[in-house]
Amino acid sequence: QRAEFDQLRDTPAITLDGTRIMVLTNAGLAVDLENLDMTGAEGIGLFRTEFQFMVADELPKLTAQTALYKLVLDAAGNRPVTFRTLDIGGDKILPYLEPEREENPAMGRRAIRLGLDRPALLRMQLRALLSAAAGRELRVMFPMIATVEEFRRAREMVDREMEWARRRGRTLPRLTRVGAMIECPSLLWHLDALLPLTDFVSIGTNDLMQYMFAADRTNPRVADRYDPLSPPALRALLEIREKCTDTNTPVSICGELAGKPLEAFALIALGFDRLSAPASGVGPVKRMILSTDLKAARRGMEPLLASSASSVRGELESLARKLNL
Ligand code: PEP
Ligand code: MG
Repeated sequence: QRAEFDQLRDTPAITLDGTRIMVLTNAGLAVDLENLDMTGAEGIGLFRTEFQFMVADELPKLTAQTALYKLVLDAAGNRPVTFRTLDIGGDKILPYLEPEREENPAMGRRAIRLGLDRPALLRMQLRALLSAAAGRELRVMFPMIATVEEFRRAREMVDREMEWARRRGRTLPRLTRVGAMIECPSLLWHLDALLPLTDFVSIGTNDLMQYMFAADRTNPRVADRYDPLSPPALRALLEIREKCTDTNTPVSICGELAGKPLEAFALIALGFDRLSAPASGVGPVKRMILSTDLKAARRGMEPLLASSASSVRGELESLARKLNL
């Protein structure tokens, strides 16, 4: 199987009926970079910058942050990289930064909330990103955005940092794209306000599902109680995809769903064409795409969205089998 995936490395992911799907990979540490060439991913759809902080004993200095981001961009070459700003809190704790535990950390002061409350931290990170991407394209997105105002404030910080760098005569990125992660269900009903402010969005299905179904993603006792392959989850994803299509907003999926062939099959049937998967999922997802008749998959998906069942996994499996996956 491994050899089969190796063969697919340089094959673009195109469905049987000719739709090009971009398959990217998720990364977080320098050691992940070799996966780019090994898997043939077309870029990094999610670079989790907090990993560098999590393996350190103290706050990584500006120079260390800049060096890592440069390394990532160098390794990616012409392939796009989307950096996600610090997502700590929740299940990711940094003793040197935020020692106090919260009662309900998944809903606590995590991710962009911490970034906005402690702007020096986010500012330093943005400065490192802008400097690492001098003369190149910078794509940066913010985790756990729950309100439009949070995104507006975070984006303003990017603008201010760019202005700061410009005044000092620094070379800026050739192009800077700023996006939001869609992980909080609240945003689903404010996409009309959010999307015009973003250059792109990426759906973090791990957290989005956790919050939609009120089931802790780290708690095995509730992990099997709901299925992302269910009408409410699929309809939510479809709605985001449709609103993004209507507003011409590039949208990707970067949760674990994107790295599982059946789940990814459902995602492309919903119209997503950019998937960012863990490295181990890139080959299997590519193989699925290469053997899928997308029009048939979309037709097959329609009645499932209207189903009253709590899971349509079985139906999707039959559909995928029928389409010869
Ligand atoms: C997600 O929530 O789906 C996501 C991609 O981010 P993380 O898994 O790092 O929370
Ligand atoms: Mg998340």
